[in-house]
Amino acid sequence: MAPGDTRLTTRYRDEKFTDALYGTMHEAGHGLYEQGLPKMGEFYGTPLADDISLGIHESQSRMWENLVGRSLAFWEWALPHAQRVMGSGLERYTPVDLFRAVNIVSPSHIRVEADEATYNLHVMLRFELERALVSGSLKVRDLPGEWNRRFKDYLGIEVPDDKRGCLQDVHWSFGLIGYFPTYTLGNLYAAQFWETIRGQITDLEAQIRAGSFAALKGWLNTNIHAHGRRYRAGDLCKMLTGRPLEADPLMRHLEARARAVYGV
Ligand SMILES: [Zn+2]
Repeated sequence: MAPGDTRLTTRYRDEKFTDALYGTMHEAGHGLYEQGLPKMGEFYGTPLADDISLGIHESQSRMWENLVGRSLAFWEWALPHAQRVMGSGLERYTPVDLFRAVNIVSPSHIRVEADEATYNLHVMLRFELERALVSGSLKVRDLPGEWNRRFKDYLGIEVPDDKRGCLQDVHWSFGLIGYFPTYTLGNLYAAQFWETIRGQITDLEAQIRAGSFAALKGWLNTNIHAHGRRYRAGDLCKMLTGRPLEADPLMRHLEARARAVYGV
């Protein structure tokens, strides 16, 4: 597929199989963190057996979902498996096709299906609205209209209904106010950790291409999961990457992906 060619985008969106894949990889990332915490033995029931923060938790899920799952190396390994399981519909595609299709940057209505670049605008919208709700400057009855107005402003597309608007997430109905920024924190931590990991596991890409994820999982087990709450999130970040949390690694990652997909 040539850069900018939308044929595969349409096909990929019709099939939707990658949404299920990335949802699963996301939750598996959370699961690996929980499994890696030292819950058994002497630390049972103590803060050392607990996760540090939701931002770090989301860094684990977003890393597997995006940095691993949306990479070309991943599709070089995964596509033959997908073709075997899903049959003829996928046979005409190459790993590069799938890599490009799952990294197309385009405004969309549903946060969990958004590409990595526009995803953070979905978070920004929600965080601004929940702050307005908590402060009382926005009434709940005015939320749908305000959502739609800001959505158009930030993402440039109309919201057709509340199902694809302010009712799409479970969080607010659960009382999870203030959760959404943890996704963007997770994206930032994940990108910063990833640069360190790539420096330490120098053949990481080749390992992913070969379907070998043990070294990456081992690194996360040793350097993040095993500590439980021994360090604050920001201190752990500084300890592992040598720097406080910054936006630059995520920007470098997004730019590299855009270069690879669009040739810009
Ligand atoms: Zn998550």
